[in-house]
Amino acid sequence: MALIVQKYGGTSVANPERIKAVAEKVAVTRAAGHDLVVVVSAMSGETNRLLALATEVHPEPPARELDVLLATGEQVTIALLTMALHLRGYQARSYTGHQVHILTDNIHGRARIVDIDDVRVRSDLSHGRVVVVAGFQGVDQEGNITTLGRGGSDTTAVAMAAALEADECQIYTDVEGVYTSDPRIVPQARRLDRITVEEMLEMASLGAKVLQPRSVQFAGKYKVPLRVLSSFEEGPGTLIAHEENEMEQALISGIAFNRDEAKLTIMGVPDQPGVASQILGGVSDGNINVDMIVQNVGADGTTDFTFTVHRSDYQKARKILEGIAAKLSARGVTGDDKIVKISVVGVGMRSHTGIASTMFRTLAAEGINIQMISTSEIKISVVVEEKYLELAVRALHTAFGLDSGNGAE
Ligand code: ADP
Ligand code: ASP
Ligand code: MG
Repeated sequence: MALIVQKYGGTSVANPERIKAVAEKVAVTRAAGHDLVVVVSAMSGETNRLLALATEVHPEPPARELDVLLATGEQVTIALLTMALHLRGYQARSYTGHQVHILTDNIHGRARIVDIDDVRVRSDLSHGRVVVVAGFQGVDQEGNITTLGRGGSDTTAVAMAAALEADECQIYTDVEGVYTSDPRIVPQARRLDRITVEEMLEMASLGAKVLQPRSVQFAGKYKVPLRVLSSFEEGPGTLIAHEENEMEQALISGIAFNRDEAKLTIMGVPDQPGVASQILGGVSDGNINVDMIVQNVGADGTTDFTFTVHRSDYQKARKILEGIAAKLSARGVTGDDKIVKISVVGVGMRSHTGIASTMFRTLAAEGINIQMISTSEIKISVVVEEKYLELAVRALHTAFGLDSGNGAE
């Protein structure tokens, strides 16, 4: 008998029929004799609906109250799923994040889990109950409701699995596992049988939203056995592996993209010590995260400085940058919020050269201009115009031999 944590995402619990189907899947696992904790998301579209509702009332909703509102989405689905389990004759109890003591820090909207008190959950399990937990939410030390950022139910599930030392954490979603790229954009994408934690972390951080990056970090840190599967189709899914595969390693395991970025440039700033820190310090004081950064080689004692931010921070960052430009007597500020970042990811890059040149050649052949480049040991990212997203990702997918029908996984 194993202890399994299952998580069902928004589309998996999108309506009463789907909730009944999930109850059926839970019942099958339970009937096999396993102990079970189930984490659920809000019904698909619900978190967005609540967000829109908030902004109708307040253009910049206070973070604490927004979390109170957003957390209601998951409270609906835990109750409904638990009712569906009761109807099937299973003992089950639903809990909000607060009730099972998912303790977080106090950063509303992107809180981090610091501790989970598993006493209540263990007691229920020992009484033969299925425990149904609301994803995406927790509570801070002062008792305020917090949320974990978009996609946060994945992290709730993995953190629960870590706290309970579960035998497996299963993330049920609307695709059959982790693919070489988003199957909705790249029809030739292939499901991977396994992917290393390290690669999955890069893929998730670079925009593959199938798992929240924090959940992969948790899985890596606490060695949680993690699998991504479909709640719609039977299948083996994808194992997130803690050991690198001993079999021959694919050069590139996947291609991720992120449409949520925008680019800003401050032109003609003095090329001298302290300027970068003045620019980026000013932006980060505005509570804005900066992603890629490029500084041009200086000429005539001045230089240009370009960086990317989350698209929702674009206007705010631009205003801040204009203030900084005035102080530094810079030549001006430009920006573009119609860009995407595309990244190729693979641990095979460590031992192979030529990945960057293949990437650049492929984009050039399609007439796609590269605006920014950044690299790390296992990934290369480029920024290109948003309109080229599909073309670029599909061309790279083919160029790196990832298309389905191209040999073994
Ligand atoms: P859930 O509501 O179940 O949490 P999400 O929408 O958050 O589901 O994540 C699943 C989606 O992630 C898929 O529908 C797919 O479009 C997208 N996705 C992006 N990149 C990948 C990838 N490499 N592999 C699988 N899915 C991906
Ligand atoms: N409901 C939240 C969201 O839409 C959390 C999740 O689904 O993981 O982001
Ligand atoms: Mg998700």
